[in-house]
Amino acid sequence: MLVVQKYGGTSVADADRIKHVAGRVLRRVHAGDQVVVVVSAMGNATDELIDLALSITENPDPRELDMLISTGEQVSIALLAMALRAMGQEAVGLTGQQAGIYTRAQYGSGRIARVDADRVKAELAAGRVPIVAGFQGATEDAEIVTLGRGGSDLSAVALAIALGADRCENCKDVTGVYTADPRLVPEARQLKDLTYEEMLELATQGSQVMHNRAVELASVYNLPILVTSSMVDAPGTLIHGESQLEERNRVRGIAHDTDVAKITVRQVPDKPGIATNIFEPLAEAGISVDTIVQNASAGKLTDLTFTLSRKDLRKAEELMPAICETVGANGFVSDGNLGKVSIVGVGIQTAHGYAARMFRALFDAGINIELISTSEIRLTCIIDAGRVPEAVRALHAAFELETAE
Ligand code: ADP
Ligand code: ASP
Ligand code: MG
Repeated sequence: MLVVQKYGGTSVADADRIKHVAGRVLRRVHAGDQVVVVVSAMGNATDELIDLALSITENPDPRELDMLISTGEQVSIALLAMALRAMGQEAVGLTGQQAGIYTRAQYGSGRIARVDADRVKAELAAGRVPIVAGFQGATEDAEIVTLGRGGSDLSAVALAIALGADRCENCKDVTGVYTADPRLVPEARQLKDLTYEEMLELATQGSQVMHNRAVELASVYNLPILVTSSMVDAPGTLIHGESQLEERNRVRGIAHDTDVAKITVRQVPDKPGIATNIFEPLAEAGISVDTIVQNASAGKLTDLTFTLSRKDLRKAEELMPAICETVGANGFVSDGNLGKVSIVGVGIQTAHGYAARMFRALFDAGINIELISTSEIRLTCIIDAGRVPEAVRALHAAFELETAE
């Protein structure tokens, strides 16, 4: 089988772990599989590089920042290739560009435009294990661009698709995808499988375990992803297109995120064009908005609330006075200390009682719900950031996730 294996930062955090990963790759090669490896930067290397840039200037040039942070992965590919060679296996470290990963430039958040996998195929054919730097690509004119935080997952999926691989294996410090973050909920159980939709919602709502754009891309090409351990032999969690068993617990997992801020625009005149005038300037400033709630109007005035990432709050607050002026609102208030908890599962919207059970569980835990948002397969409550761990545990118990399959 042809497989792309991705190893995250924790899995290659030091020399011993890199040697351990090399051993695992080697075993797969000896078992007769063709293996292409994608690696992340070692441990917290990317964070450290960003801090280093910020110690030079508060506002690093985006191009130079990408030049800097893309080096983290280059360290890992070289070391892993050396480790394999030291074990007698030919291997070759390749940057994103050398591996043919072409991106469209938006420094810091590049999009993969195409993958030309000829070089990687040639290395495989020559019996060398290609070790590709995740998180990076290059534009047609050879500018290095990174794909956004956690983007190595995306590199691996894109390469797997271009190579026509049988599957992508995402090898991590956990053995698979759990019903909730095992760091918060010790009773969390590993799931055997998940649909793309379910994994996409979990990832988008804060589960770090997979990058949401990687899941989205895999779903378009129907590429199976196995989330599995980089440390021990474990069956892992398969993310694929089929959903099975109507009678299983519809809530598959709980996602959480403690990085939520909220802005409420007060007493906006209820007339056409308001939303455009509020959200266009924010979008132009590169601020992405998540949940938007507009109250029913009373006396032709309405409150409009939206959420955003905490890192964008200051920039948004600077833009708000002018926005309020344009739309004739009576000012705004903000809260930078929120989080969200979500229950995810195919069918929860059509089945009875899931929302009521979620609200009851939070109420019983004495947790106030600030905002609610839903999708076809998800219910999300925005709450105080400090209460998130408790809320996740309360929901895990309320939906009996420690026992269900
Ligand atoms: P990598 O470096 O391999 O990309 P990450 O640190 O990004 O790994 O993601 C792995 C972490 O995701 C785990 O250590 C775990 O604490 C966390 N996590 C959050 N939600 C889940 C979940 N539902 N299942 C498994 N792990 C989860
Ligand atoms: N090293 C990058 C990051 O920390 C990419 C990744 O780990 O996937 O965001
Ligand atoms: Mg990650």
